[in-house]
Amino acid sequence: MILIFVGPPGAGKGTQASLTAKKLNIPHLSTGDILRDKLLDQDSLSSKLKNPMDSGNLVSDDILNEIVANRLKLPDCQGGFILDGYPRTMSQKIFLIDFLESHDLSISKIINLSIDEKIIIERIKSRSNIENRLDDREEIIKTRMIKYLKETKPLFKYFRSKYPNDYHIVDGNQYIENIQDDIFKILKNDDLQP
Ligand code: ADP
Repeated sequence: MILIFVGPPGAGKGTQASLTAKKLNIPHLSTGDILRDKLLDQDSLSSKLKNPMDSGNLVSDDILNEIVANRLKLPDCQGGFILDGYPRTMSQKIFLIDFLESHDLSISKIINLSIDEKIIIERIKSRSNIENRLDDREEIIKTRMIKYLKETKPLFKYFRSKYPNDYHIVDGNQYIENIQDDIFKILKNDDLQP
């Protein structure tokens, strides 16, 4: 099963994707987590990541596409995977669709976690006390939101029209457990054991 979790920063994609991945026993690929790991390597790649990530801007599509393609070729992805934080731009979407088609794969479901924009800043700020992410400062969150609205949100129209039966909007304002329930109800019909 191939799932894509989309939604604004702070919507809880990471939490929900991780719980779902455990339940389905497939890997959870968060491009944010992968990039934060790569940042620690302090090599030539990490120097290209630091500025855009710290300032809330997007890392270049070429870097992301290469990272994702390499990751998807690994053996643990052969039984399916969850993408969280990718694709985030039109060019990433085109790359992913081409990659999947050329490997005879198709997207099973797209889960769009929607959340009231006024809750986002509060949520991210309370998370920042725990995770200590540089990009969780209020002015940087605003840049991340602008990028999301300009680059990522326009992709949803495409997803909705290309996958009308597999594109689902889930209310991300609820408690974690209730969001999980909603996601499992969506997946249950096809893929989860009762
Ligand atoms: P968010 O809470 O904003 O969804 P993530 O952990 O997914 O945070 O991503 C953190 C940062 O990593 C982003 O602000 C961006 O700089 C970079 N990043 C993650 N995924 C991508 C992507 N698909 N394309 C470009 N940059 C990305």
